[in-house]
Amino acid sequence: MVCTYDGITFKTELLARWAAFFDIAEWEWRLYPHSVGNWQPDYRVNFECGDRLCKSSHTLFVAVLPIYTPERLEHHPAIDFTQTIKDEQGQPVADAGAVFGVNPGYTKWMLEHNNGKAWTSVPLWIPDHAQMWAEACAHVRNENVPLQAYSCLSTSDLPLRDSPVRVLSGRQRN
Ligand SMILES: [Zn+2]
Repeated sequence: MVCTYDGITFKTELLARWAAFFDIAEWEWRLYPHSVGNWQPDYRVNFECGDRLCKSSHTLFVAVLPIYTPERLEHHPAIDFTQTIKDEQGQPVADAGAVFGVNPGYTKWMLEHNNGKAWTSVPLWIPDHAQMWAEACAHVRNENVPLQAYSCLSTSDLPLRDSPVRVLSGRQRN
C-alpha cells in the first residue's frame, strides 16, 4: 500500500514509517541512495555517534524488510556488507549495510564503533525507540486519512509490546 509522509510518496507504509522515525530521531535520511552492485538500498541514514573515541557520525545503507527475524537473515547484501561500502570510484559511501524490519526492535547491522566491531541495533542507540516509533506511525497515519484507509493503521504487523494503540493511549494525539 502506498503511503505519504511529508509530501513524499512511499511504496509501502513501512518505508514511510521509517522516514518519520528518522525525522523524530534526528537521523539524516535519504531515500534510495545509489545502488551497490545489484543491491538498491532503501535508505542511506546518518546518525551522530557522540563517542569521543569514535567518528562523529555513522552512515548506513538500509534495507527495509517486513520481517521480525533480522537475526536469521543470511546472504542479503544489507547483512553481508559488514564494513565500509564504497562507490564505483572507491569513495566510501557508508559504514555498513543494515536491515531494518517491522519496527526498531527488529534491526541489525555490524558496526565498527569505539575501537571495536559488533552487531548492533536501533534500541542500543535510541532508548526511546518504542515511543518514537508510535509517534512515527501516528504521523504517517494522520497524513493518510480518511478513516476508511485505516487498513494503514493495522497493527497486525507489529508485535504486541510495541503496539501503537497501546503506546498512543498514554500520549496526546493531534
Ligand atoms: Zn561510533
